Amino acid sequence: MSEMKSAHTPPLIFEHSKTGRRGYKLPALDVPEEALDAMIPAALRREEIANEVEVSEVDVIRHFTRLSKLNVSIDAGLYPLGSCTMKHNPRINEEIARTPGFAHSHPLQPDHQVQGNLELLWHLEQTLKEIFGMPRVSLQPVAGAHGELTGILMVHKALAKSGNPRKYILIPDSAHGTNPASAAFAGYEIRELKSNSRGTVELSTLEAAVTEDVAALMITVPNTLGVFESEIRSIADILHAKGAYLYCDGANLNAFVGIARPGDMGVDCIHSNLHKTFSTPHGGGGPGAGPVGVSERLVPYLPAPTVERREDGSFYLDYSHPDSIGRMRAFNGNFNVLVRALTYMRSMGPDGLRRIAQLAVLNANYIRARLKSSYHLPYDAPSLHEVVFSDKNQTAKDVHTLDIAKRLMDYGFHPPTIYFPLIVSGALMIEPTESEPKEELDAFCEAMIAIARECDERPELVRTAPHSTPVRRLDEARAARQPVLRWNPAI
Ligand SMILES: *Cc1c(COP(=O)(O)O)cnc(C)c1O
Repeated sequence: MSEMKSAHTPPLIFEHSKTGRRGYKLPALDVPEEALDAMIPAALRREEIANEVEVSEVDVIRHFTRLSKLNVSIDAGLYPLGSCTMKHNPRINEEIARTPGFAHSHPLQPDHQVQGNLELLWHLEQTLKEIFGMPRVSLQPVAGAHGELTGILMVHKALAKSGNPRKYILIPDSAHGTNPASAAFAGYEIRELKSNSRGTVELSTLEAAVTEDVAALMITVPNTLGVFESEIRSIADILHAKGAYLYCDGANLNAFVGIARPGDMGVDCIHSNLHKTFSTPHGGGGPGAGPVGVSERLVPYLPAPTVERREDGSFYLDYSHPDSIGRMRAFNGNFNVLVRALTYMRSMGPDGLRRIAQLAVLNANYIRARLKSSYHLPYDAPSLHEVVFSDKNQTAKDVHTLDIAKRLMDYGFHPPTIYFPLIVSGALMIEPTESEPKEELDAFCEAMIAIARECDERPELVRTAPHSTPVRRLDEARAARQPVLRWNPAI
């Protein structure tokens, strides 16, 4: 790794070590050393570190503070990862999630002791029902992909009940990558649908593909090109005429929340990511939530238990759903994420939620307009919340998408999603989200335009980027497969 370090690499904590330096003094040992040997197995002791690192408290604090500043985060600037919706997480969400009644309750407490928690879940379901335009919503799934699996298992059960679970799930080539994985996990085979030149589903292609063996179409709306499937109603009709279901991947509902409702489009099942559209923290593998809304036909198959309200206004968990697919998650999903999401919905209100979609679309189109003379736009259809460019204008200089993304880091921006969607060669997928001010969008566009100029005038500079980061180009496949997550004296 050492040859990849640049002048900006901070020293390791072990390199600060000075003989005799102390941050903290422990009292003298008052038990015999042999007793320690018996208490702590040799395999659990890391003597080489304890003996080697001698640092003061100042060294330690500065070391970790410097390291923390190397983190790229939405709190430090624009994070335009397409399809990820890296938007601001309002701090009021955190305040409410820390309310002792929410934060200190235990999942095994009986219903009568956690009425407030159940009430919150009930209200969140009511709010999502309204947003989706669907009769019921399950809050159990803890990720977008988990919501997809939940939805497809419900479709499977509904079809099995009527005699034949069928064999195939249709998935357009513009879908999110988790869709085929979830469908396969639920036991289905995947058939890919080719998009038309607008980047959307072609009705005649769909009609030819929907046989009696097709269980559902999983469609991402807007799709991964950021394009709205404007024929969604006809798509639903074609599927329903053949007894198949329409699954909508609504992870990025910030494109039309408060403006259009999936239930009104004929969707049978939809998930949305609270850690995208509804501002709960996102990334780092932390807890998420992917609630699933269903149409009337799928209600009997929802995960159990559901939260219900009695006539007297009290709440309870209802397990009496004989056709339920069962539990998808212990207890009530990621409860504290659900608290944050309802806080967000309530603090925005209906008009605020609509405003999210308006601004998300405006911001993406602003970037599209500013960058389209520098970068190639593979699809002409109007963009919603994100815009996809390609490296076609730059490849003549042997500069590619990866190089452009790396160079952006020198300008202080997190790169956009790259090489996705797969139907665009050399894709650069940019999603600014609605929480960015115009100044930040301008700074990003100016960096992108400057890089396009560099691709013409100094391609080598872009090809060898980044130049200012602690580590330069990594072997990314190896870094993902064999991550080194803690210091090891042998490396
Ligand atoms: C992020 C995303 C998913 C997957 O969500 P996870 O929470 O990461 O499982 C699915 N579909 C789309 C369109 C997405 O953007």
